[in-house]
Amino acid sequence: MDILKYTDEHRQFRERLRAFLAAEVTPNVEQWEKDHLVPKEAWRRMGHAGFLSTWVPPEYGGMGGDFLYSVIVTEEMARTNHTGLAAMLHSDVVVPYIASFGSEVQKKKYLPGCVSGDIITAVAMTEPDAGSDLAGMQATAEPDGDAIVINGSKTFISNGINADLVILAAKNPVEKNPYQAMSLYLVEDGTPGFNRGRQLEKMGFHSQDTAELFFTNCRIPKENILGTPGMGFMMLMEKLQQERLMCAIGAQAAVELMLELTIDYCKKTTDASGKPISKYQATQFALVEMAADIKVGRAFLDKLIMEHAAGESIVVETSMAKYWTTDLANRVAGRCLELHGDYGLTEKCPLARAMRDVRVMSIFAGTNEIMKGIAAKFMGL
Ligand SMILES: Cc1cc2nc3c(=O)[nH]c(=O)nc-3n(C[C@H](O)[C@H](O)[C@H](O)COP(=O)(O)OP(=O)(O)OC[C@H]3O[C@@H](n4cnc5c(N)ncnc54)[C@H](O)[C@@H]3O)c2cc1C
Repeated sequence: MDILKYTDEHRQFRERLRAFLAAEVTPNVEQWEKDHLVPKEAWRRMGHAGFLSTWVPPEYGGMGGDFLYSVIVTEEMARTNHTGLAAMLHSDVVVPYIASFGSEVQKKKYLPGCVSGDIITAVAMTEPDAGSDLAGMQATAEPDGDAIVINGSKTFISNGINADLVILAAKNPVEKNPYQAMSLYLVEDGTPGFNRGRQLEKMGFHSQDTAELFFTNCRIPKENILGTPGMGFMMLMEKLQQERLMCAIGAQAAVELMLELTIDYCKKTTDASGKPISKYQATQFALVEMAADIKVGRAFLDKLIMEHAAGESIVVETSMAKYWTTDLANRVAGRCLELHGDYGLTEKCPLARAMRDVRVMSIFAGTNEIMKGIAAKFMGL
């Protein structure tokens, strides 16, 4: 019995999305990986086809879908075995900040473009000296008349090159408590003083434009403060449950794909005597062990998806799921690649990219050590 109750509408949506990705995304992935960038036009196509921020209410241009639509998009994107068109980050991590904390004017101004793909978003928290510990953030945002003046730099920002709109975390230097000093700001592409730096060369996530951002006397109107000033830290904390859950969903979908590809390979590939390698006990045990772990992950995750959709606070379990599924993804990637033999090391083998791409998952959205620290705290340890 399935834990998640998908309706016929959900299933049809998944079919349409799968067909869209097969036609519009998969054939371009190799090129995007080489370019280290996804063209903005691909985002627009995805948005115009109705696959970005599916949960946005109709009055702001969306289809008002439930959380299961976000799950479907994240799972199907993971099955494209690339990370450049970061629909999950945009749709279910960044845009929710605008919907939850934005003023009516901000929602009307930005949400329709976020849905159509004409506005690509990024969230900028990390700095060269502030990753896990955001209290160490140095970027400043100082009121000056009707404006806010931003100075500082951010690094490792996903969609950093493509972003039309950045949700930026920065501190008011007048406020001495680092947590109360932080606010969120909406910075539009083209604002004087906002510049992009290097696009970072990474071991994985090749098609994703991870970049440095620089702010030098960058003036934005006060209307671009997002939510209540001084509540930046709280707003980030509130949204992290969904970010980490989405990350776990992506990791789970990635391991399911890796196992599927590997079973297929082991059944089709024969040794010198003509015996499929899936007939060796060692291969069978490896595949069975991975399949069992993946089923355990799926059951846990589907339960969390249901609870999150019902609005429950599942901070501890989400932290556990984030570290467990992303560690699983790394273990499964290594083992699946091994079963592909030398072919696994070639760029033709999808496992090579999958292994590189899952590596980062235990680091971003809060490292797995931080996840365990959160769980330990809530367990009263
Ligand atoms: C591909 C990619 C995309 C990213 N996208 C974004 C983005 O869009 N926006 C954004 O703001 N950031 C982004 N990041 C940054 C990411 O969120 C950070 O890498 C992450 O928060 C960890 O920070 P750090 O790398 O500075 O590691 P550090 O915080 O320096 O940690 C280094 C090591 O110390 C451990 N450690 C640190 N503190 C503790 C502690 N208290 N207890 C136990 N262990 C600890 C960590 O677990 C880790 O192993 C991205 C990173 C990558 C790699």
